Amino acid sequence: MGTPDNKQGDRPAVRARLVLTMKFYNYDIVFQEIPDEVTLAINITGCPNHCPECHSRFLWNDVGEELNENSLTAIIHEYQSAITCVCLMGGDQDPAGIDRLAAFIRSQFAPIKTGWYSGRQQLAPEVDLSHLDFVKLGPYIADRGPLKSENTNQHLYRVHPDGQLEDITFRFWRKKL
Ligand code: SF4
Repeated sequence: MGTPDNKQGDRPAVRARLVLTMKFYNYDIVFQEIPDEVTLAINITGCPNHCPECHSRFLWNDVGEELNENSLTAIIHEYQSAITCVCLMGGDQDPAGIDRLAAFIRSQFAPIKTGWYSGRQQLAPEVDLSHLDFVKLGPYIADRGPLKSENTNQHLYRVHPDGQLEDITFRFWRKKL
């Protein structure tokens, strides 16, 4: 009996976990996602978190236009004079890509600030906090509510220059007063 042909099983693509190309669904100027900032929020697709009560299931799909340095530059140029912050909304499937894009914004568009909304409980180790001014952590749990709920499980942090994280979630609650 001859040796079985195992070419298919040897394919790296079969063994390795695929990292999807980062893509975005849309973008908008927002005023509430980051306190005191006029934020260009870019909604990234391919969300791997699949929170059971997700409010944006359309972001689970791997659709949209590629988000890379070129497309990001084009989007920021549209609004550069009006914004003070760029926030990447999602991208947990490729935290190294998020880190790369945040570093790019920092290097090319300072003093515009950088933010990342992650649906993970913990900060991904691939992300260098020196590239971010704000980071939001935590999945969406309907019973706990979003950041504006005082019962929320999510947290928004300001990243200080020494890497310390200051929890500023309470800023969403004060806005209701
Ligand atoms: S992280 Fe956001 S987009 Fe992703 S599943 Fe959770 S709520 Fe939905």
